[in-house]
Amino acid sequence: MRVRHAVAGILLLRIRVAGGALVLILFSLGVGAVGLRAVPAASGASCTAAQKAARQKALAAYRRRMIQDRKAYFKAHASKRERATFVKRQQSRLRTLQRAANCAIDRKPPALTAAAVSGSTLTLAFDETLAGSSPTSAFSVRVDNLVWPVTAVALAGKGVTLTLVLAVDGGQMVTVSYAPTVGALSDAAGNLVAAFADRPVTNSSAQPATPAPEPGYSPSIPAPSTAGRPPTDSPSLGEWGPKTGEPYWLPTTGTLHGLIVLVDFSDAPAIESVDFYKNYLEATAESYYRENSYGRLTLDLTTYPRWVRMSKPVEDYGLAGGPPMATVTAFVNEVTGLIDADVDFSQIDSIYVVGPESTGPRLNILLFRPVPGQGVVRDGKELRWGAVGGGALDRRGPTSNLFAHHLITHETGHLLGLADLYDASQHDGGALQDAWAGRWDIMSDNRASSHMFAWNKWLLGWLDPKQLRGLTAPGTTEATLTPLEIPGGLKAVVVPVSPSVFYVIEDRQRIGEDRELCDKGVLVWIVDGSRRNVDHNAVVQAAGRSYSDACGAIYDAGYDIGPGEVSTFEDSSVKVQLLAANPDGSYSVRVTRK
Ligand SMILES: [Zn+2]
Repeated sequence: MRVRHAVAGILLLRIRVAGGALVLILFSLGVGAVGLRAVPAASGASCTAAQKAARQKALAAYRRRMIQDRKAYFKAHASKRERATFVKRQQSRLRTLQRAANCAIDRKPPALTAAAVSGSTLTLAFDETLAGSSPTSAFSVRVDNLVWPVTAVALAGKGVTLTLVLAVDGGQMVTVSYAPTVGALSDAAGNLVAAFADRPVTNSSAQPATPAPEPGYSPSIPAPSTAGRPPTDSPSLGEWGPKTGEPYWLPTTGTLHGLIVLVDFSDAPAIESVDFYKNYLEATAESYYRENSYGRLTLDLTTYPRWVRMSKPVEDYGLAGGPPMATVTAFVNEVTGLIDADVDFSQIDSIYVVGPESTGPRLNILLFRPVPGQGVVRDGKELRWGAVGGGALDRRGPTSNLFAHHLITHETGHLLGLADLYDASQHDGGALQDAWAGRWDIMSDNRASSHMFAWNKWLLGWLDPKQLRGLTAPGTTEATLTPLEIPGGLKAVVVPVSPSVFYVIEDRQRIGEDRELCDKGVLVWIVDGSRRNVDHNAVVQAAGRSYSDACGAIYDAGYDIGPGEVSTFEDSSVKVQLLAANPDGSYSVRVTRK
């Protein structure tokens, strides 16, 4: 629409503003009939609300000024041609300002249009140019349902590139989630990218080479002297054979039904809601066992829906320090009695009693595992498995975790038959109490989550013989170890050097439940089946021996390839050489038994 109005020296400027309203502005020039052309309104550009307001302000200011400028110019210039040129210039400037002010306010957040991954590069495409600087923690990537940390985020135009901790293999299922944080992503108009969850990612990564079939290996350790006897000490004895079929342990595959009961006391009343513990504990412990067992063990947890007030102050139960099992059993007896009317205990395999944070050391983390005949009978079932403890925060790790989470994950390991791997007597010194196995197994230092090491997984029936390579005679073998966290593939080279001593060589990567480990690489373990519980029964041969509060002891134990890394382990029995560290986190290793 281009119209020209010139009525008796009065210029009629017709402007269509956003929304279609017509605004008529009259200019009384009194200097001849020089018309201003109306400007088409639609400009197509988008802007923020603040930008639009500023542009409208600039336009109004120019309009006010242009009349005076023109008067002044006309006064000084009589030539019609010069005047016309001047007016043309003003019109042009006005049109520019009008176009800018007519921008459409952008209220549409940028939308994700595509997500693709190739190797360790995941690209997100949006429908608008992005601004912002999101931290890596804003994105969450899962590969075959394992948490796969993002190590870098880069913005370019309409794209976001995420660098992943490891390359993804072809055929793996990848999803990406985004939760806005400080420095959240937005478009130029300031519209924030909305949170999204579990968006499928197109995976164009290369398929991994198919490894040669493994012959398989089933290590056997002579039955320990305690075999066939009920486990009378707490925690378990140093029994290192397979746990399947053992009558004193819970089944290690299938489904276990666990009951969480939150209890409080007159001298330690509950502050947090039931849901606070329920949501955290059920999700963390269930996913822990699902991932660790590669789906072979389902820990199905239910939380009793109310805090249960105990009859006596917490002090009176004698649960500080290391009380005898009968004391723990008496406590569990009262807890289960208080809720017996609501709970069918015949369906419960294990029970976890959690007190509020304020119980502190008065309610120590204790295993509930009486011998057969000394448990608690409810609804015709003898309850003999569980744990009790306070629900405080463990602030030692890289992120704070509830002790109660570790209460379930670690103590359930004992219920399945695993031994403690830390130095309970602390004869290696306080800070290095965990120096034998460090953070490398949840049965050792559990300041943060971690997988169980390959030997423990084999004990529990979560690894097949074909996932172990045995070097059963002097000689050399070359193998490709796949990350322990990922289902399938070769998980360990096992070297028996005596009837009870085994070297276990495995690959650990910072993904899934291992994502908070402070190092990655190939671990060399020495498992000694002749040792009792908490007595050098499984010791990591550390490439480094550092300690930090966040990471714990020997956090840098991984053998690796790269600057500053140690790539060869050697002692009088075994030599392990790293040949290659592959982008997908696997390692090619050469293992020699002398
Ligand atoms: Zn323990």
